[in-house]
Amino acid sequence: MNGNGVSRRDFIRAGAGLCAALCPLAAARRGNADSLEDENLFVREAMFYEKLPDKRVHCKLCPRECKVADRERGYCGVRENRGGTYYTLVFGRLVALNVDPIEKKPFFHYLPGTTALSVATVGCNIFCKFCQNWNISQARPENCPARYVSPEELTSIAKRYDCPTISYTYTEPVIFYEYVYESAKVAREQGIGNTVVSNGFIKEKPLVEWCKVLSAMKVDLKAFTEKFYKDMCDGRLQPVLDALKVLQREGIWYEIVVLLLPGQNDSAEEIKRMTGWIVKELSPDVPVHFSRFYPQYLVKNLPRTPVSTVERAREIAMREGVKFAYVGNVSPHEGESTYCPRCKNLLIKRIGYFVTIKGLRDGKCSNCGEKIPGVWKYPPT
Ligand code: SF4
Repeated sequence: MNGNGVSRRDFIRAGAGLCAALCPLAAARRGNADSLEDENLFVREAMFYEKLPDKRVHCKLCPRECKVADRERGYCGVRENRGGTYYTLVFGRLVALNVDPIEKKPFFHYLPGTTALSVATVGCNIFCKFCQNWNISQARPENCPARYVSPEELTSIAKRYDCPTISYTYTEPVIFYEYVYESAKVAREQGIGNTVVSNGFIKEKPLVEWCKVLSAMKVDLKAFTEKFYKDMCDGRLQPVLDALKVLQREGIWYEIVVLLLPGQNDSAEEIKRMTGWIVKELSPDVPVHFSRFYPQYLVKNLPRTPVSTVERAREIAMREGVKFAYVGNVSPHEGESTYCPRCKNLLIKRIGYFVTIKGLRDGKCSNCGEKIPGVWKYPPT
């Protein structure tokens, strides 16, 4: 129980992943959260930036590379120049804290059937018109009630709720990089894994440092055209492709999610080019999830993605050589389950978040012995 009579259990229950869900809790804590002392808890010097003349700074965390004048913030709204020193304003400033199935991220080749303590701060470094969590991803820190949770406390909560993993998710973990980095260091020392659910819009140096402390990443590949990234996300494709190559090179486990929007990024030709690139430039072992879109936020004019579209994308991917292609936001469906790429034995059966390990033994197919890529136990031995 904390000083305001709100237990951590209440906090977890209250955290529905949405800012609005936290309002009652935040109202209870506002006296503390708005105080100068608590505000300072959230502020840490940024890890990746350069000082420029006239008290300006150059952020080197993501490919946007904001150059920020004194008393101004970068594009993401959570990093501020104070007298020529650059700060994150969201260290430990959590607006969501839930226990989720790891499949919700989705990770299908990472400790299947387990849970992840899932956390977020406000903010994002791109602007997707179809964002599911826009009310926290596009919020500013001062506009969204939050609670400070230190890296040590985060690990304690994960242990208390028997979560083998902490997942940094819902918004964009790149913009709360420092908190992810420090929390992951603490957690992994105590045998807790750390996964990031990201848009992959990050520069190489910070990504390489992340790879040293994280156990897995999920990256959204939002389309395979610069036009989609520009028009729908105010972002760029090439830096995301570069980041995926870094993950492959560094050897960290990662999975790719493609949300298919009708008529925008779902043509057979685009899926063929995308999955051909994944097989050639990354690996045929990378799981690729094709998810259905539901109209929301600023894109309410498009219909839901037909099931046949994600099925077709999965088929194209497998024809191109992707060994593990999945459908998302469709259940029940055979495309949710994992099959041995050599003998087609059913390895992991999924119906939504119900997961049954069928034919996977020590990371191998129980029928033919094929080694199945993924993280099947943590810490690895
Ligand atoms: S992390 Fe934020 S401040 Fe830094 S370059 Fe990206 S958008 Fe700009």
